[in-house]
Order: sequence, then structure tokens, then C-alpha cells
Amino acid sequence: MNKWNLVIDIAKCHDCNNCFLACKDEYCENDFPPYSAAQPRHGHRWIDILRKERGQHPRVDVSYLPLPCMHCDEADCIKAAEGEAVYKRDDGIVIIDPLKAKGQKGVVDSCPYGVIWWNEELDVPQKCTFCAHLLDEGWQAPRCVQACPTGAMEFLHVEDAEMQRIVHSEELEVWHPEYGLEPRVYYKKLYRYTRWFISGSVALKDVDECAEGAKVTLKNGSGGVLITALTNNYGDFRFDALEAKSGQYRLEVDYPGYQQRELRVDLENSIDVGTIFL
Ligand code: SF4
Ligand code: SF4
Repeated sequence: MNKWNLVIDIAKCHDCNNCFLACKDEYCENDFPPYSAAQPRHGHRWIDILRKERGQHPRVDVSYLPLPCMHCDEADCIKAAEGEAVYKRDDGIVIIDPLKAKGQKGVVDSCPYGVIWWNEELDVPQKCTFCAHLLDEGWQAPRCVQACPTGAMEFLHVEDAEMQRIVHSEELEVWHPEYGLEPRVYYKKLYRYTRWFISGSVALKDVDECAEGAKVTLKNGSGGVLITALTNNYGDFRFDALEAKSGQYRLEVDYPGYQQRELRVDLENSIDVGTIFL
């Protein structure tokens, strides 16, 4: 049967917070039994937006990771709740029953993604429901997805086998796969949030010019070629989606008529190696 999945493109999220505000608009002062009690006006972020800055001046970037409940197939919150207060619907959505979960503060800490919030006034744990009450009425997407102005979020109602085909063909990833919870939220270009880049620039010292078209080769510690790139018209290059490895990367720069330069790079964080003069 078809189940719901959310795909979020990290490269398209600009941190406008429309999704967060749409969620507030839907849930503040509104009860949707049996799926949710009203969200408090302050404190909760049922869809949060995390931020990661990478690089060093002048080559930096910032990425945003919208973070709702992952609606995991192997959800820790379901295992932690007593009396079946947290359950999974046939369509994949994980619901915290606002009546059965009353007083169960331990459910908040059961989620390693940190997406369950405690409602002090109502004495209940709360989180994103994928707007299950709207989907039941025939809506095709939750409020956050509809409110996103950049199309960063896509809501898919497909069979699991089809979803796995999409995951493979679009190179989607889940956040923190090591948790083993089998999330139904997938990310596109997650490397912008979880991996590192090496950037720099190449210039010709004798003529005081940018070296456009210089060949830059990234090698691993044992000399194997990982990837090559040509510098742009500013002499800039950039290798992205790299894993952090101390002392494990080497850069070689070649330009016709000039002696080759080689650098060893410790990559514990995204790094700009500055201008390499030939
Ligand atoms: S992300 Fe957390 S709250 Fe959501 S289903 Fe998974 S374990 Fe439960
Ligand atoms: S509405 Fe879209 S672009 Fe804006 S913060 Fe949310 S996911 Fe990002």
C-alpha cells in the first residue's frame, strides 16, 4: 500500500521559516483529536530549522536542515511509550495520542532526533503529525510543504519499493542512519550539511594573474586520484562532499609551463587553502 514520505532538498532551503510559521498557524490554539492537542504559542518547533556554516573567508557557505519528526518505521518513541500512547498508522505516520500520552514525559527523551516537545500546560509530549487530520480529508501535503516558496519539500504517497527506487535514483539520504530508525524523511544534497569541502585559488606569480584552467587533482593519502577539476576564470576550485580525514588528502596543481605544486590537507572541517601561487 502507499505510504507517506517527505523529501527535503537542502540546497533549496533558505531558512525563510514559512514552514515553521505554517505549522504554528495550523496547530496553535487548535486541537485535532485524536492526533494532536493545541501547540503552545512559544517554545515548540515541530518543524525546526538547523543551520551549518562551512568554510573560511572568502569561500564560505551556509546550509539549513528543516527537521520535522522523521516518522520512523523503527521508532524509539513507540517503544518508549506506555499503553500504546505512540503508534504508527498504516500509511507510515507516527502519532502521539494526546490523551494516552498524558504525563509521559519520558517519551520526549526517547527520540534521538530531538523532535518531541513537552507541553507543560497540557502535560503531554507533542510533535509533527505530517498534518494527518488534513491528509484524512484528502489533502495531498501538510501545511509546511504547501507553504515552502522554494519547493524545497516534496511529499510523496508511494509504495515502499517505489520510494526505495526514488531514494536510489535521486541519491537521497536519511539523517543519522546510524540510529537505525528507518526514517520516512529523506534529504537531497545532505552532504552540504554533513560533509566538508576543500577550496582554494590558483594564481601565476610572475604575471600576477588568476590561473584559469589550472588542473587541480585531489588524491588520498596513498596517492590514489579521487577527483580532478579545472579552475574557473577567477582561478578558483572546490571539491565538496568530502569525509573528514586528518592528513589524508593531497592536492596537486598543474599548469602548462609552470612547476607542479603539491599540498597536504588535514580535513577536520571545511577548509579554504587560500591562493596557491605557481
Ligand atoms: S523522529 Fe523521533 S519522534 Fe519521530 S518517529 Fe522517529 S523516534 Fe519517533
Ligand atoms: S519554507 Fe522551505 S525554504 Fe523556507 S525554511 Fe521551510 S523548507 Fe526552508
